Amino acid sequence: MEPQTDTSTGQVAEPALSDHIAFDHVFSLAGKVALITGGGSGIGFDIARCMVEAGATVIITGRREQPLQDAVETLGERAHYEVNDVTERARLGELVATIEQTHGPIDILVNNAGINMKKPALEVTDEDFDRIVHTNLNSVFSLTRACASRMIERGSGSIIMISSMAAYYGIDRVAAYAASKSGVEGMVKVLASEFSGRGVRVNAIAPGFIETAMSKTAMGGDPDRFARAMRRTPMGKFGKPDDIGWAAVFLASDAARYVTGASLPVDGGNSIGF
Ligand code: NDP
Repeated sequence: MEPQTDTSTGQVAEPALSDHIAFDHVFSLAGKVALITGGGSGIGFDIARCMVEAGATVIITGRREQPLQDAVETLGERAHYEVNDVTERARLGELVATIEQTHGPIDILVNNAGINMKKPALEVTDEDFDRIVHTNLNSVFSLTRACASRMIERGSGSIIMISSMAAYYGIDRVAAYAASKSGVEGMVKVLASEFSGRGVRVNAIAPGFIETAMSKTAMGGDPDRFARAMRRTPMGKFGKPDDIGWAAVFLASDAARYVTGASLPVDGGNSIGF
């Protein structure tokens, strides 16, 4: 129950003791349905794994069927997949409808699918720029709108975007990627201000350097970039995909019921490193 405000005095009443959620339940996602884009590999796979361990049913998506099939086999009976390319925006409404018909209302959306490209800005073509922004930003908006309209009708939901340190400070050679992730950060604030009063929380996780295929490509053959990344990471190491997975469980759970419009760095201190 929400605390009541006495409109004559403007005072907020003390919450009833019954509002307290016990530790056993507060991080639980039992009975929840989560849609995780790009869940067949990397960070998305570990978000799915952590959410399954927290009790959720997960539906993972991606363009390639084989990694999705393998992932679902590993994740067990509460995991399902849909082959889907998030850039085909006209089909995202149909994706959401199909999932809800089969598995029930989507309680949690994790916009994780993303692509990167490392090139000096002057070599980035319009096509390159559009491709990155289309996947990482435009599609995120379309899928979020498709899910959020249903969540708002039901009066509950949690939406999580996967942002990046590239939205926090200037990393060279990722102009399009940084633009897309900065757009995502802005969108979180606006959507949180529009949706939160109607029961739908919107947050981001900003991963630092996490061990996945994407970071391997970004760092591969570039020891100087790797050394720079580690120099400004106080913990002095890369994160693991499940470091992001557990943060996503927290943001999706009742433990974060008063958290909205936030961007949570999960980065070994990289964002505050000197
Ligand atoms: P990976 O490249 O390992 O995984 C990306 C996933 O997204 C794949 O499963 C891929 O599957 C899927 N994907 C890509 N394009 C599409 C598409 N058009 N439609 C549907 N699915 C798609 O990357 P990470 O796990 O490292 O990254 C996950 C997220 O985390 C991204 O948003 C990334 O920007 C962000 N991030 C990662 C960091 C890192 O250090 N690793 C740091 C900061 C942010 P398929 O190819 O089959 O479609």
